[in-house]
Amino acid sequence: MQRPRIVVVGAGFAGLECLRRLERTLRPEEAELVLVAPFDYLLYLPLLPQVASGVLTPQSVAVSVRRSLRRSHLLPGGVVGVDLDAKVCVVKKITGETTTLSYDRLVLTPGSVTRQFDIPGLAEYGRGMKTLAQAAFLRDHVIAQLELASISSDPEERAARCRFVVVGGGYAGVETCASLDLLTRSVLKRFPRFDPSLIKWHLFDIAPKLMPELGDRLGENAQRLLRRRGVEVGLGVSIAEAGADSVRLTDGRELATRTLIWTAGTAASPLIGTLGAETVRGRVVVGPDFALPGRHGVFALGDCAAVPDLTKEDGAMCPPTAQHAQRQGKVAAANVAASLRGRAYTDYRHHDLGLVVDLGGVDAVARPLGVELSGPAAQLVTRGYHLAAVPSGPTRFRVAANWALHAVAKDDFVRMGFLDSRAGTLGDFEHTGEYLNPEQVKEYTRSKV
Ligand SMILES: Cc1cc2nc3c(=O)[nH]c(=O)nc-3n(C[C@H](O)[C@H](O)[C@H](O)COP(=O)(O)OP(=O)(O)OC[C@H]3O[C@@H](n4cnc5c(N)ncnc54)[C@H](O)[C@@H]3O)c2cc1C
Repeated sequence: MQRPRIVVVGAGFAGLECLRRLERTLRPEEAELVLVAPFDYLLYLPLLPQVASGVLTPQSVAVSVRRSLRRSHLLPGGVVGVDLDAKVCVVKKITGETTTLSYDRLVLTPGSVTRQFDIPGLAEYGRGMKTLAQAAFLRDHVIAQLELASISSDPEERAARCRFVVVGGGYAGVETCASLDLLTRSVLKRFPRFDPSLIKWHLFDIAPKLMPELGDRLGENAQRLLRRRGVEVGLGVSIAEAGADSVRLTDGRELATRTLIWTAGTAASPLIGTLGAETVRGRVVVGPDFALPGRHGVFALGDCAAVPDLTKEDGAMCPPTAQHAQRQGKVAAANVAASLRGRAYTDYRHHDLGLVVDLGGVDAVARPLGVELSGPAAQLVTRGYHLAAVPSGPTRFRVAANWALHAVAKDDFVRMGFLDSRAGTLGDFEHTGEYLNPEQVKEYTRSKV
């Protein structure tokens, strides 16, 4: 008899943890396990800003799927649509070919993409911080701006190339701005005749506070530190229009710049839009057991799903964090196994452990278990937390070794040039234009039956 096939979509915090647990829970004869993901690594996203700033090498934040899993099959590609009635995924392989994959159980964990707004020029000129390629691209781009500014005799061009604009006052934007600001200041050692006062970083957010989830005091500490370093923190302000060599702000100002880094939130993966299922703010509606209502054997979790937060009473959803996604993966595996064995599902419940925010160097702010910390003590907690949270021994070792190496040898500020041929747009790296709409999914699966 054929074994039921469990298909997991995405090898991130939720998907990889779910598969690891499924391998341990189910006997090989109970189910075939298939992972569909474009890359064969889990990207440890919380350390991505450190890749952009050169503190860590790209490989050190990539957790090997093959080391983590023993018997799951990996189909390298992206699911571009799901037909829930036919129980079929439409997969675009990394070769560009499209194929179908049927399932008996489906676990959707494709995560999120950079949230875009209807701002003229944003899709063309905004740069994101969601993938390893984007971090490598951004690092190259920032170093290139300084190299080009240093040989330019046009003062306006020099000033524009040395001005960097980050939009998004959440932890991703704050860490990106803080770490890249330090990169540009330290890279100046290699440009002896460069005027350091030319370097200008701006951090904007339409909200009145930075990182409101950290509480007022820590948000203000982070803001003070950034301002002390010379970063302009503009709150209640965003971008009204982006162009190739300037941005117009919502307060009417125009800033000449060649760099707009857009980290103003995330949106559920466009894959969710192909399901034709109910959503809340773009995330697919599921129960606290991750089950899609009315779709037996289909589960969704992580950033793409609106998982009710049972630790709160106001109908809140779990926030889109790695902390939740990884823990959800564990409970989801138990529920997938329960669905095969005809047992009851378990509800997900997790009390947030807090947040850590690395501001570069010895600076950080952190709120572990409700305790507010700033400065070197927070940095110690931040690094310790990441070392404990990285879900692989070899990766943990690589991260620690890279931190030690960077502390001693510093950065060579080498621009790799691998991605020179790419425009570097959000869609270019996040492949948001590749998904089918629900009708196209049905049409495609019908044509294959
Ligand atoms: C810069 C940055 C810093 C962050 N810092 C923190 C932090 O300090 N603490 C914290 O808790 N959280 C942090 N987060 C948030 C955290 O990384 C996410 O909440 C978490 O990664 C969500 O896990 P996930 O499994 O849902 O998605 P992801 O980890 O994003 O994984 C999604 C997976 O799906 C794959 N995929 C995408 N689309 C498809 C498709 N169509 N088909 C197949 N596979 C697909 C992806 O390649 C990836 O493997 C940070 C995020 C960013 C961007």
